[in-house]
Amino acid sequence: MKKFETEAIRTQIERSQNLEHSSPIYMTSSFVFEDAEDMRASFAEEKERNIYSRYSNPNSSELIEKVCQMEGAESGFAYASGMAAVFSTLAALLNAGDHIISSKSIFGSTHSLFTQFFPKWNIETSYFDASDLSQIEGLIKPNTKILYAETPTNPGVDVLDLAVLGQIAKARGLIFIVDNCFATPYLQQPIKFGADLVIHSGTKLMDGQGRVLAGITVGNGDLMDKVYRFSRITGPALSPFNAWVLSRSLETLAVRVDRHCENALKLAVYLEGHKKIEWVKYPFLKSHPNHEIAKKQMKAGGCVVAFEVKGGLEAGREFFNGVQLLSLSANLGDSRSIVTHPASTTHSKLTTEERNAVGISDGMVRVSVGLEHIDDIISDIEQALG
Ligand SMILES: *Cc1c(COP(=O)(O)O)cnc(C)c1O
Repeated sequence: MKKFETEAIRTQIERSQNLEHSSPIYMTSSFVFEDAEDMRASFAEEKERNIYSRYSNPNSSELIEKVCQMEGAESGFAYASGMAAVFSTLAALLNAGDHIISSKSIFGSTHSLFTQFFPKWNIETSYFDASDLSQIEGLIKPNTKILYAETPTNPGVDVLDLAVLGQIAKARGLIFIVDNCFATPYLQQPIKFGADLVIHSGTKLMDGQGRVLAGITVGNGDLMDKVYRFSRITGPALSPFNAWVLSRSLETLAVRVDRHCENALKLAVYLEGHKKIEWVKYPFLKSHPNHEIAKKQMKAGGCVVAFEVKGGLEAGREFFNGVQLLSLSANLGDSRSIVTHPASTTHSKLTTEERNAVGISDGMVRVSVGLEHIDDIISDIEQALG
């Protein structure tokens, strides 16, 4: 196996007779059989081949192979969105009556899935604080099946110790699932620390240019087989076009993410010295409570910086109305820098108490630091702070 950057570029569908350099797009819903025997053997799964794009397609296979190599995973499935990956993966593995233990700090829609929809199938979730993993042992019940976590977390950029989570899951026979969206496989590979499955929203840094919705789950082959069986029947597959876009995006993941992290660290250091800022959180700042763990499990700090403007909600509103270059948007991991107000957008479906419990104050700002020149990013924030 070659290095990360090389595999990200050179892993590709076998060339057709046209000898194309870049992979072509297979915009086809189905594939043809040579004869009656081929048709029978294909459906009997006696051979590995494409039958129908809801099951597999060369473009999604190329993408899956790349992400498996990046994460050190055995197999995977590509989805139409990150949430399709989260839902399909969990629904494939859980039975009615099962129990999930999850970090409190998780993506808003994942939280809604756990609180509003899984209870319909008698699947309950218990939560631990991202800052206190010792709570997990006390939450384990005979029907606990899955340990679920994100790190760094959205939007508070808390860092959870993956090795500790991996050890608990292994000792207690739980399936350990990590949403690795904020780190990308370039910065962090949870399987090395004991994760069984890794989920990504490809919509964020993986595409990195705000063009496609996508999701992917990779990991242990036996678990992925169950996830694959469920997913090929229920129909959340990624379109060939979006798989093609995302696979091209991965060719530049390493160089893009390096620059995102460099810019984000510079912004975090700048904000830390600003008199109008109450606090700043970024995994690679020494002041981050889990800086040492971040350095142990991540190559760099990622693109998201969280901070609070002094003066609470009102000062926060003035800041959002003051930014000119940066976009007000709910996305992250884009080449364009984005500022978000989590309390009124991504986490607005949570109650104020639920938000406070996961460390989202009403005046908190989340910046997804993009690839513009850092001097321009900082001057826009500087003028918006007034
Ligand atoms: C955005 C996001 C998701 C969901 O991905 P979509 O592609 O929007 O469905 C899941 N987890 C995290 C951490 C995210 O940031």
